[in-house]
Amino acid sequence: MQRTTTTDLVVVGAGTAGLPAAIEAAAHGLRVTVVEKGDRPGGTLWRSWAQLSAGGTALQRAKGIRDSPDLHFDDVMRISRNTADPELVRLAVDHAPATIEWLMASGFDMDPDAPAVLHFHEPYLLPRTYWGRDAGRSVLEVLLPAFEKACAGSVTLALGTELVAFRTAERAVETGKPGEPGEPGEVRVAGVTVRDPDGTFREIDATNVILTSGGYAGNPELFPRLTSGAPLAGPASPGAEGSGILAAVDAGGRVRGQDRFLPTYGGVLRSGSTWETVGLDDYPALTPQARAPWEIHVNTRGERFVAEDAPSVDDRENALLAQPELKFWVVYDAAIRRSAPALFPTWDETELDRAFDGHPSFVTALDLTTLARAAGMDPGVLADTVAAYNTAVASGDDPFGRAHLPAPIAEPPYYAVLNHGTTLKSPAGLAVDSRLRVIGPDGPFANLWAAGEVIGGSTLSGKSFVSGMSVTPALGFGRMLGRRAAGATTDPGSM
Ligand SMILES: Cc1cc2nc3c(=O)[nH]c(=O)nc-3n(C[C@H](O)[C@H](O)[C@H](O)COP(=O)(O)OP(=O)(O)OC[C@H]3O[C@@H](n4cnc5c(N)ncnc54)[C@H](O)[C@@H]3O)c2cc1C
Repeated sequence: MQRTTTTDLVVVGAGTAGLPAAIEAAAHGLRVTVVEKGDRPGGTLWRSWAQLSAGGTALQRAKGIRDSPDLHFDDVMRISRNTADPELVRLAVDHAPATIEWLMASGFDMDPDAPAVLHFHEPYLLPRTYWGRDAGRSVLEVLLPAFEKACAGSVTLALGTELVAFRTAERAVETGKPGEPGEPGEVRVAGVTVRDPDGTFREIDATNVILTSGGYAGNPELFPRLTSGAPLAGPASPGAEGSGILAAVDAGGRVRGQDRFLPTYGGVLRSGSTWETVGLDDYPALTPQARAPWEIHVNTRGERFVAEDAPSVDDRENALLAQPELKFWVVYDAAIRRSAPALFPTWDETELDRAFDGHPSFVTALDLTTLARAAGMDPGVLADTVAAYNTAVASGDDPFGRAHLPAPIAEPPYYAVLNHGTTLKSPAGLAVDSRLRVIGPDGPFANLWAAGEVIGGSTLSGKSFVSGMSVTPALGFGRMLGRRAAGATTDPGSM
C-alpha cells in the first residue's frame, strides 16, 4: 500500500540549486523534505568548475573594476547573440552580486586571482568571473555545513529517493488561504510521488514543490531526443539524467531550447566509454589564449575546418557544429610532441604513451597514410591537408587565417587524438515564467517552481556558453525560491 507523508515544501534534488533552496526555506520556518536520488547531496558541484559571474561586487570594487548588473546583462546578451531569455537573464544578473556576497560572507575560499576574464568560453569584456580554489567543492564547503545544520532542524533529507511523478489536477479555487499560493483557476500540484530506496512508492503531500533535479547531460539516450539529434559527449554527472524534466512533461510541462545547442570545443572520451569524457581538468589544452596551437584540427574526412588559433571560441565552436558527428582529430608529429608545451598538461609522458598504446581515441603511425587509416580518415585527403598546412607554415599565409604557424607537421611518428564537441550542461529545459513557475498546459503551476539546469542551460546562456551563468543563477534562484516558498517578502536582491 502506498504511504503518504506531508510537508510544507518538497525540494527535488540536493544539488547546486536545491541545497540553497532548502537551507533558505528552513531558515524561514518551513518544514522541508529534500528528495535526492543519489547517495549524497551535492549534485554536479562535485565535478563542476563552478565558475561564477556577477557584475558590481565588493570584490570588483576593491580591485578598481567598475561593473554593474546592467553591464553584465549587456555582455550576456552580446555573447549569446541575443539567444538567451532576456527576462530571466535580467533576474539572474540582478541577483548575482548578492550570491557572491553571500558566499564570501559564508567563508567561501575565493581564488585570489578572481575576478578575471577567462577564455575557455567566449570572454566577458570585464573581469567578472570568480571561482573557488577547489572549484565546485569550494561551493560545497559553504553549502554542506549549512545544509547539515538545517537537517538537524526542519529539513528531512531522503537519499536514494527518486521523484517519479507530480500529482496535479488540483485547482486553486480560493485565494488568501494561508500557505496556499494561487489564483482561482490556477493549477496547483498536490505533491509528488517518489520511489524510496526499498523500491516502494510514496506520496508526499506538499504546499509547494521546487524542482532542482538538474539537466540531462549525463543521459546519452535522452540527450539527442531533447537536443535536436546532437550526440552527447561530456563529463556531466551521471545523476543528470533528466528524470525531473520528464516527470514535469508528464504533468503537462513543456521543454524549450532544443535548438540552442553549441558544443564546447574539445574533450576526449574515457577509454571504453561511448559518451563520457575524461574529467574537465584533463581536457587537452585547446584554448589559444592559454596555449597557442602547434597541431592542426581536422574533421573525420581529414579536412581542416577552422583557424585553430581563432581567438573567439564561439567561432571555433560554431565551426565544429558544422562537422560530421561533432568530431575532430588533433594531428601532430614527433617534433611538435618534443618542442611544444604539453597538449595534455595534466598528463605525464608515460600516461600519454599508455594512451597511444591502447586508447581508441589515440592513434600513432610512422607515416600519414597509416595514421589516416587508423583514424578512419581518407589518406589522400589527410595528406593534402598536411601538405597545404606545411606550405602555409613556410609562407606564413594560412588560408584559414591562422597566425600561429610554429612548425610543419613532417617528422614521424605522427599522432592524432580524437576530440569531440562536448557538453557541460544540457541546453533544453522546462519553460518557466518570470517568477520561475513551471508552465503547464493552462499556464504556470501556482506552486511548482524550478531552478538550475532543469530550466535549460540555454535559458541563461542562449546558444553559447556564458561564464558563470549556470552555477551563479542556480545558487541565486535556489535561494530566492526557498524564500518565496516561505512567503518571505524580503527583496531577494538583498540576500
Ligand atoms: C565538468 C563541469 C564543469 C562545469 N563548469 C561550470 C562552470 O564553471 N560554471 C557554470 O556556471 N557552470 C558550470 N557547469 C554547469 C553547472 O555546474 C551545472 O549546470 C549546475 O551545477 C547544475 O546545478 P543543478 O542544481 O541544476 O543540478 P545538480 O547540481 O546536478 O543537482 C541535481 C540533483 O538532482 C538529483 N536528481 C536528479 N533527478 C532526480 C529525481 N528524479 N529525483 C530526485 N533527485 C534527482 C541529482 O542526483 C542531483 O543531485 C559545469 C558542468 C560540468 C559537468
